[in-house]
Amino acid sequence: MKRVLVLAATTGYQTRSFGDAAARLGVELLFATDRCHVIDDPWQDGAVPIRFYDEAGSVATILDRTRTRPVDGILVVGDRPTVIAARVAEALGLPGHPPAAAAAAGHKRLTRERLRDAGLKVPDFTAPRFPCVVKPVALTGSRGVIRADDPASLAAAIERVRAILTSVDVRNERNASHQEILIEEFIPGHEFAVEGVLHHGRLYVLAIFDKPDALDGPFFEETIYVTPPPLDAAARQAIEAAVAGAAHAIGLDHGPIHAECRVATDGVYVLEVAARPIGGLCARAVRFTGGETLEEMLLRHAVGESPARWRREEAARGVMMIPIPRRGVLRGVDGVDQARRIDGVEDVQITAKLDQVLIPLPEGASYLGFIFAGAPGAGDVTRALRDAHRALRVAIDPELPMLTSSALQYNHHHG
Ligand code: ADP
Repeated sequence: MKRVLVLAATTGYQTRSFGDAAARLGVELLFATDRCHVIDDPWQDGAVPIRFYDEAGSVATILDRTRTRPVDGILVVGDRPTVIAARVAEALGLPGHPPAAAAAAGHKRLTRERLRDAGLKVPDFTAPRFPCVVKPVALTGSRGVIRADDPASLAAAIERVRAILTSVDVRNERNASHQEILIEEFIPGHEFAVEGVLHHGRLYVLAIFDKPDALDGPFFEETIYVTPPPLDAAARQAIEAAVAGAAHAIGLDHGPIHAECRVATDGVYVLEVAARPIGGLCARAVRFTGGETLEEMLLRHAVGESPARWRREEAARGVMMIPIPRRGVLRGVDGVDQARRIDGVEDVQITAKLDQVLIPLPEGASYLGFIFAGAPGAGDVTRALRDAHRALRVAIDPELPMLTSSALQYNHHHG
């Protein structure tokens, strides 16, 4: 039986989906998840406990385990374990992305340098003019990405990003790259995301997602992804060629990639190529002709299958990452059933927890939930997603005033 190592932050939707696909394919999974290894197997799930911030230690722990449970392939869920996965693949002699390429892919300045050195289109990041974009070099999900149009808004944006980078959760990642901020030229244009698999250096595009909502700032929350995009063959080829060129310039070689690009009047700018597949629940927006999930196909790739003959299903499909409308305490979401009944809507998942403090971008790092839709045409999918979103009524209360020291005392004893 083939065995595949899956690195993930914790177990969640995508790891379960990999589990289902593995059961169907007769592949065994070995998980490595980010946690403290004071107790050996706290979740009793046989996962290898690693710490994402400790790359060398995590690699050693995994290699130790694979001596008795050898693996045939490696997959990652999420951005943080990509370098660890690459180092394990290299140590085991398995095909994968080279560690230096995975590191560059996860670092926005290094990505810019690789693309510029390869002669590809990049936003000017050495002497940017206004409008510009301020961003942390190693956060994800548009966190801390802010447009500035003049010196005053630039100064404010830098201050705001600095505050994010010194917050407890970012500092807990213990990533030295979180001390760096990148400022680059703002590229006007329509945005697309590309889901693909590199197979020994060659890019196979699985889906191009249109982002029908304008992304002009000052913050850049992802909302709708819909595929297929309204592009002719030449435009599609231009995007695919730009992403293939960028992946190659970064040095990525074998495994899933997820890229973001903007099509400007002078061509395609690849903003990033992540060394991992599309995240979490959004993966449900990619289906293949036999009804297979993305996770199933990625497992097949991990054990050696070429993606050359894979085809995405005929129908259009899309997902809306439901943005957090404002800061506050989530009290409830009404209209979910009504949204689910809208033509084309396949599912509505509210993933934020009741009574949780919701934090919108640019500081926040999560969504309210996800809406999924499928229809014969992409326009119907987008309409269904927008209608479903409009049907939702989100109750958010203002946050409590700052806790006083006596309130903290109370929490300390009772919380
Ligand atoms: P992340 O990895 O956090 O998603 P990105 O660098 O990809 O960060 O930026 C997130 C989003 O911000 C992009 O998808 C895009 O909409 C917008 N953005 C980032 N940089 C630029 C830029 N130079 N010009 C225009 N839009 C940008």
